[in-house]
Amino acid sequence: MGDEPKCRCGYDKHHPMVSAEPKYDAKGWFWLIMGATPDPVRVVFKCRRCDQVIDESDDPEELKRA
Ligand SMILES: [Zn+2]
Repeated sequence: MGDEPKCRCGYDKHHPMVSAEPKYDAKGWFWLIMGATPDPVRVVFKCRRCDQVIDESDDPEELKRA
């Protein structure tokens, strides 16, 4: 443990400067265009300071954060 991936600023995915960006498949994009809010298929954790992608996940628990 203690082996969480970090960006070059030293932030892990739980840091406030790191945002969880939802990613959608084609069906999800269709619903987005229709104005609905689909469930993302995966979530990408990205640092807002250095723009580095720290981690990504398709864990349903993580998707709830997106
Ligand atoms: Zn960073």
